[in-house]
Amino acid sequence: MRQEPHELDSFSPVTAARTDLAHRAPSVYPAHFMVGTGYPTEDDFVVARQELGKGYGVYARRAFQRGYRVCRISGTIVHEVMQHTLQISSDAHLYDPYFTGFLLHACDPNVFLDMGRFELWAMKDILPGQALTMDYASTEDYLFKQFPCLCGAPNCRKWITGRREPVRVPDLDADGR
Ligand SMILES: [Zn+2]
Repeated sequence: MRQEPHELDSFSPVTAARTDLAHRAPSVYPAHFMVGTGYPTEDDFVVARQELGKGYGVYARRAFQRGYRVCRISGTIVHEVMQHTLQISSDAHLYDPYFTGFLLHACDPNVFLDMGRFELWAMKDILPGQALTMDYASTEDYLFKQFPCLCGAPNCRKWITGRREPVRVPDLDADGR
């Protein structure tokens, strides 16, 4: 019984936190986000250009197994559709210009975003070097910008819109949206 206080000391939260910090890889989110474990790190993902002249994508640096959570996601809540936002509800969007906002679109994607829990899930096995892809219409009512899709999937929709908007013919859209 005399040993009890000493044993409790050795499991203090301070000791646990220090050990955890020592093993944590750099977060893709800025330090002031103060994200905990389970969020994307630079050890596991890289945001990089698809190829010269093309946009950026998120690439896996290790394997992720189908059916498992890939990571939690973070960002800032905004009330309009912008570049790098993902829809939470009809009037709330997550602005994440560090990770989620760079996920590429595919009509037969390998990840799914749960915008209720702010989690990213693997729908297929993902290998190191592969791009993480989501279906933009799975979260977005209206896209910041509609675009042609060349994903090559048998179910490719060819022209990507939000789930609640009609096709906007680019030639008639002077403002580029
Ligand atoms: Zn497609």
